[in-house]
Amino acid sequence: MSAMEGSATDTLTRPAVLILLGPPGAGKGTQARLLEARFGLVQLSTGDLLRAAVAAGTEAGKAAQAVMEAGGLVPDSVVLEILRDRLAQPDTRAGVILDGFPRTAGQAEALDALLSAQGLGIGAVISMEVDDAAMVARVAGRYSCASCGEGYHETFKLPRQSGVCDQCGGTAFKHRADDNAETVQARLSAYHAQTAPLIAYYAGRGVLQTVDGMAAIDAIAAELGAIVQTVTA
Ligand code: ADP
Ligand code: ADP
Ligand code: ZN
Repeated sequence: MSAMEGSATDTLTRPAVLILLGPPGAGKGTQARLLEARFGLVQLSTGDLLRAAVAAGTEAGKAAQAVMEAGGLVPDSVVLEILRDRLAQPDTRAGVILDGFPRTAGQAEALDALLSAQGLGIGAVISMEVDDAAMVARVAGRYSCASCGEGYHETFKLPRQSGVCDQCGGTAFKHRADDNAETVQARLSAYHAQTAPLIAYYAGRGVLQTVDGMAAIDAIAAELGAIVQTVTA
Protein backbone atom coordinates (compact mmCIF):
# COMPACT_ATOMS: atom_id res chain seq x y z
CA MET A 1 0.00 0.00 0.00
CA SER A 2 2.86 2.35 0.70
CA ALA A 3 3.45 4.02 -2.64
CA MET A 4 6.09 6.25 -1.12
CA GLU A 5 7.97 3.46 0.63
CA GLY A 6 11.73 3.88 0.41
CA SER A 7 11.55 7.54 -0.52
CA ALA A 8 11.20 9.02 2.97
CA THR A 9 13.13 12.23 3.39
CA ASP A 10 13.48 12.07 7.20
CA THR A 11 14.59 8.77 8.68
CA LEU A 12 13.18 7.77 12.05
CA THR A 13 15.38 6.09 14.63
CA ARG A 14 12.54 4.03 16.06
CA PRO A 15 9.04 3.06 14.99
CA ALA A 16 6.16 5.26 15.93
CA VAL A 17 2.46 4.59 16.27
CA LEU A 18 0.45 7.72 15.61
CA ILE A 19 -3.32 7.96 15.74
CA LEU A 20 -5.17 10.69 13.85
CA LEU A 21 -8.54 11.43 15.44
CA GLY A 22 -11.12 13.70 13.89
CA PRO A 23 -14.50 13.77 12.15
CA PRO A 24 -14.96 13.02 8.44
CA GLY A 25 -13.23 15.78 6.49
CA ALA A 26 -10.85 16.76 9.30
CA GLY A 27 -7.84 16.07 7.07
CA LYS A 28 -6.69 12.74 8.51
CA GLY A 29 -6.06 11.09 5.15
CA THR A 30 -4.35 14.16 3.69
CA GLN A 31 -1.96 14.42 6.62
CA ALA A 32 -1.37 10.66 6.87
CA ARG A 33 -0.16 10.59 3.26
CA LEU A 34 2.19 13.51 3.91
CA LEU A 35 3.64 11.79 6.98
CA GLU A 36 4.03 8.59 5.00
CA ALA A 37 6.01 10.38 2.30
CA ARG A 38 8.18 12.27 4.79
CA PHE A 39 8.93 9.64 7.43
CA GLY A 40 8.26 6.30 5.74
CA LEU A 41 5.48 5.58 8.21
CA VAL A 42 2.70 3.43 6.79
CA GLN A 43 -0.80 4.90 6.56
CA LEU A 44 -3.41 2.47 7.84
CA SER A 45 -6.83 3.77 6.87
CA THR A 46 -9.61 1.45 7.99
CA GLY A 47 -11.90 3.29 5.55
CA ASP A 48 -9.55 2.41 2.65
CA LEU A 49 -9.20 -1.18 3.89
CA LEU A 50 -12.98 -1.53 4.18
CA ARG A 51 -13.56 -0.03 0.71
CA ALA A 52 -11.03 -2.52 -0.71
CA ALA A 53 -12.89 -5.35 1.06
CA VAL A 54 -16.20 -4.15 -0.40
CA ALA A 55 -14.68 -3.95 -3.89
CA ALA A 56 -13.19 -7.44 -3.53
CA GLY A 57 -16.51 -8.86 -2.31
CA THR A 58 -14.99 -10.51 0.80
CA GLU A 59 -17.10 -11.55 3.80
CA ALA A 60 -15.88 -8.47 5.67
CA GLY A 61 -16.81 -6.32 2.69
CA LYS A 62 -20.30 -7.80 2.52
CA ALA A 63 -20.79 -7.14 6.24
CA ALA A 64 -19.59 -3.54 5.88
CA GLN A 65 -21.13 -2.25 2.67
CA ALA A 66 -24.64 -1.23 3.75
CA VAL A 67 -23.41 0.36 6.99
CA MET A 68 -20.83 2.40 5.10
CA GLU A 69 -23.38 3.59 2.56
CA ALA A 70 -25.60 4.78 5.41
CA GLY A 71 -22.74 6.55 7.20
CA GLY A 72 -22.80 4.31 10.28
CA LEU A 73 -19.92 2.53 11.96
CA VAL A 74 -19.00 -0.96 10.82
CA PRO A 75 -19.07 -3.50 13.71
CA ASP A 76 -15.86 -3.64 15.75
CA SER A 77 -15.31 -7.35 15.02
CA VAL A 78 -15.21 -6.69 11.25
CA VAL A 79 -12.91 -3.67 11.49
CA LEU A 80 -10.59 -5.41 13.94
CA GLU A 81 -10.17 -8.40 11.71
CA ILE A 82 -9.04 -6.36 8.73
CA LEU A 83 -6.79 -4.16 10.87
CA ARG A 84 -5.17 -7.19 12.52
CA ASP A 85 -4.38 -8.67 9.09
CA ARG A 86 -2.88 -5.43 7.85
CA LEU A 87 -0.77 -4.90 10.99
CA ALA A 88 0.65 -8.39 10.55
CA GLN A 89 2.30 -7.35 7.25
CA PRO A 90 6.01 -6.62 7.68
CA ASP A 91 6.02 -3.10 6.17
CA THR A 92 4.20 -1.82 9.26
CA ARG A 93 7.31 -2.39 11.40
CA ALA A 94 8.63 1.00 10.32
CA GLY A 95 5.73 2.51 12.23
CA VAL A 96 2.14 3.36 11.38
CA ILE A 97 -0.29 6.21 11.20
CA LEU A 98 -3.75 5.02 12.11
CA ASP A 99 -6.19 7.09 10.07
CA GLY A 100 -9.79 6.56 11.12
CA PHE A 101 -9.08 3.92 13.76
CA PRO A 102 -9.95 3.49 16.61
CA ARG A 103 -13.45 4.91 16.37
CA THR A 104 -15.03 3.24 19.43
CA ALA A 105 -13.96 2.43 22.99
CA GLY A 106 -13.95 -1.26 22.09
CA GLN A 107 -11.58 -0.63 19.19
CA ALA A 108 -9.29 1.43 21.43
CA GLU A 109 -9.02 -1.41 23.93
CA ALA A 110 -8.42 -4.00 21.24
CA LEU A 111 -5.71 -1.80 19.73
CA ASP A 112 -3.77 -1.77 23.00
CA ALA A 113 -3.74 -5.56 23.01
CA LEU A 114 -2.67 -5.75 19.35
CA LEU A 115 0.17 -3.27 19.84
CA SER A 116 1.47 -4.77 23.07
CA ALA A 117 1.63 -8.17 21.35
CA GLN A 118 4.10 -6.52 18.93
CA GLY A 119 6.02 -4.73 21.68
CA LEU A 120 4.70 -1.35 20.55
CA GLY A 121 2.95 1.47 22.34
CA ILE A 122 1.06 4.55 21.18
CA GLY A 123 3.43 7.45 20.49
CA ALA A 124 0.76 10.12 20.14
CA VAL A 125 -2.93 10.54 19.51
CA ILE A 126 -3.55 13.70 17.55
CA SER A 127 -6.97 15.27 17.74
CA MET A 128 -7.64 17.42 14.67
CA GLU A 129 -9.97 20.12 15.91
CA VAL A 130 -12.38 21.45 13.27
CA ASP A 131 -15.75 23.15 12.86
CA ASP A 132 -18.50 20.65 12.07
CA ALA A 133 -20.20 23.13 9.77
CA ALA A 134 -17.10 23.34 7.58
CA MET A 135 -16.83 19.56 7.32
CA VAL A 136 -19.82 19.24 5.01
CA ALA A 137 -18.08 21.38 2.39
CA ARG A 138 -14.80 19.56 2.92
CA VAL A 139 -16.37 16.17 2.35
CA ALA A 140 -18.76 17.15 -0.44
CA GLY A 141 -15.88 18.67 -2.48
CA ARG A 142 -13.47 15.81 -1.90
CA TYR A 143 -12.21 13.65 -4.78
CA SER A 144 -9.14 11.56 -5.43
CA CYS A 145 -6.91 10.25 -8.18
CA ALA A 146 -8.21 6.94 -9.51
CA SER A 147 -4.65 5.63 -10.04
CA CYS A 148 -2.66 6.65 -6.97
CA GLY A 149 -5.34 7.75 -4.50
CA GLU A 150 -3.96 11.26 -3.97
CA GLY A 151 -6.68 13.38 -2.40
CA TYR A 152 -7.97 16.65 -3.83
CA HIS A 153 -10.68 19.18 -3.14
CA GLU A 154 -12.76 21.19 -5.61
CA THR A 155 -12.01 24.42 -3.74
CA PHE A 156 -9.23 23.82 -1.21
CA LYS A 157 -6.77 21.56 -3.01
CA LEU A 158 -6.83 21.51 -6.79
CA PRO A 159 -4.11 19.78 -8.83
CA ARG A 160 -1.43 22.22 -10.01
CA GLN A 161 -2.43 21.47 -13.61
CA SER A 162 -6.17 21.18 -14.07
CA GLY A 163 -7.32 17.57 -14.49
CA VAL A 164 -3.85 16.05 -14.00
CA CYS A 165 -2.77 14.35 -10.76
CA ASP A 166 0.25 16.08 -9.16
CA GLN A 167 1.64 12.78 -7.93
CA CYS A 168 1.28 10.37 -10.85
CA GLY A 169 0.07 12.35 -13.87
CA GLY A 170 -3.19 10.36 -13.91
CA THR A 171 -6.21 12.03 -15.48
CA ALA A 172 -9.05 9.92 -14.01
CA PHE A 173 -10.54 10.94 -10.69
CA LYS A 174 -13.20 9.50 -8.40
CA HIS A 175 -15.65 10.73 -5.80
CA ARG A 176 -16.82 8.52 -2.91
CA ALA A 177 -20.52 7.60 -2.96
CA ASP A 178 -20.80 8.29 0.78
CA ASP A 179 -19.36 11.82 0.39
CA ASN A 180 -22.72 13.54 0.05
CA ALA A 181 -24.37 16.09 2.34
CA GLU A 182 -26.92 13.66 3.89
CA THR A 183 -24.50 10.86 4.69
CA VAL A 184 -22.00 13.33 6.11
CA GLN A 185 -24.53 14.29 8.79
CA ALA A 186 -24.90 10.64 9.84
CA ARG A 187 -21.11 10.25 9.89
CA LEU A 188 -20.69 13.38 12.00
CA SER A 189 -23.30 12.09 14.47
CA ALA A 190 -21.53 8.74 14.70
CA TYR A 191 -18.27 10.59 15.32
CA HIS A 192 -19.70 12.64 18.19
CA ALA A 193 -21.53 9.72 19.80
CA GLN A 194 -18.86 7.05 19.55
CA THR A 195 -15.47 8.47 18.60
CA ALA A 196 -15.18 11.89 20.28
CA PRO A 197 -15.18 10.27 23.78
CA LEU A 198 -11.78 8.79 22.86
CA ILE A 199 -10.29 12.29 23.10
CA ALA A 200 -10.80 12.34 26.89
CA TYR A 201 -9.75 8.70 27.14
CA TYR A 202 -6.38 9.36 25.50
CA ALA A 203 -5.92 12.67 27.31
CA GLY A 204 -6.23 10.72 30.57
CA ARG A 205 -3.42 8.47 29.41
CA GLY A 206 -1.17 11.45 28.67
CA VAL A 207 -0.75 10.77 24.94
CA LEU A 208 -3.14 13.35 23.49
CA GLN A 209 -2.00 16.27 21.34
CA THR A 210 -4.33 18.68 19.59
CA VAL A 211 -3.85 20.56 16.33
CA ASP A 212 -5.97 23.19 14.62
CA GLY A 213 -7.47 21.27 11.71
CA MET A 214 -8.85 24.50 10.21
CA ALA A 215 -5.33 25.77 9.47
CA ALA A 216 -3.68 25.38 6.05
CA ILE A 217 -2.62 21.87 5.01
CA ASP A 218 1.09 22.78 5.05
CA ALA A 219 0.91 24.41 8.47
CA ILE A 220 -0.76 21.34 9.97
CA ALA A 221 1.81 19.09 8.28
CA ALA A 222 4.63 21.06 9.91
CA GLU A 223 3.01 20.70 13.34
CA LEU A 224 2.48 16.98 12.90
CA GLY A 225 6.05 16.55 11.69
CA ALA A 226 7.30 18.16 14.89
CA ILE A 227 5.13 15.80 16.96
CA VAL A 228 6.51 12.76 15.12
CA GLN A 229 10.07 13.94 15.72
CA THR A 230 9.37 14.45 19.43
CA VAL A 231 7.81 11.04 20.00
CA THR A 232 10.56 9.21 18.11
CA ALA A 233 13.52 11.17 19.54
P1 ADP B 1 -10.46 12.81 6.42
O1 ADP B 1 -9.49 11.72 6.01
O2 ADP B 1 -10.24 13.28 7.82
O3 ADP B 1 -11.89 12.43 6.19
P2 ADP B 1 -9.36 14.28 4.12
O4 ADP B 1 -7.90 14.30 4.40
O5 ADP B 1 -9.83 13.35 3.07
O6 ADP B 1 -10.19 14.07 5.49
O7 ADP B 1 -9.79 15.78 3.75
C1 ADP B 1 -11.14 16.07 3.38
C2 ADP B 1 -11.13 17.05 2.19
O8 ADP B 1 -10.66 18.32 2.65
C3 ADP B 1 -10.20 16.66 1.05
O9 ADP B 1 -10.81 17.03 -0.16
C4 ADP B 1 -8.92 17.46 1.31
O10 ADP B 1 -8.26 17.80 0.08
C5 ADP B 1 -9.45 18.71 2.01
N1 ADP B 1 -8.57 19.19 3.10
C6 ADP B 1 -7.79 18.45 3.93
N2 ADP B 1 -7.15 19.23 4.84
C7 ADP B 1 -7.55 20.51 4.58
C8 ADP B 1 -7.24 21.77 5.17
N3 ADP B 1 -6.41 21.89 6.22
N4 ADP B 1 -7.84 22.86 4.64
C9 ADP B 1 -8.69 22.75 3.58
N5 ADP B 1 -9.02 21.60 2.98
C10 ADP B 1 -8.46 20.48 3.47
P1 ADP C 1 -13.89 9.64 6.86
O1 ADP C 1 -12.50 9.86 7.32
O2 ADP C 1 -14.28 10.61 5.82
O3 ADP C 1 -14.86 9.51 7.97
P2 ADP C 1 -13.30 6.84 6.26
O4 ADP C 1 -12.77 6.52 4.92
O5 ADP C 1 -12.36 6.84 7.40
O6 ADP C 1 -14.02 8.25 6.10
O7 ADP C 1 -14.50 5.86 6.61
C1 ADP C 1 -15.54 5.60 5.70
C2 ADP C 1 -16.57 4.69 6.36
O8 ADP C 1 -15.96 3.43 6.67
C3 ADP C 1 -17.12 5.19 7.69
O9 ADP C 1 -18.23 6.06 7.50
C4 ADP C 1 -17.53 3.87 8.37
O10 ADP C 1 -18.73 3.37 7.84
C5 ADP C 1 -16.42 2.93 7.92
N1 ADP C 1 -15.29 2.89 8.87
C6 ADP C 1 -14.01 3.33 8.64
N2 ADP C 1 -13.22 3.13 9.72
C7 ADP C 1 -14.02 2.56 10.66
C8 ADP C 1 -13.81 2.14 12.00
N3 ADP C 1 -12.59 2.26 12.60
N4 ADP C 1 -14.86 1.61 12.67
C9 ADP C 1 -16.08 1.49 12.11
N5 ADP C 1 -16.34 1.88 10.85
C10 ADP C 1 -15.34 2.41 10.12
ZN1 ZN D 1 -2.41 10.12 -9.00
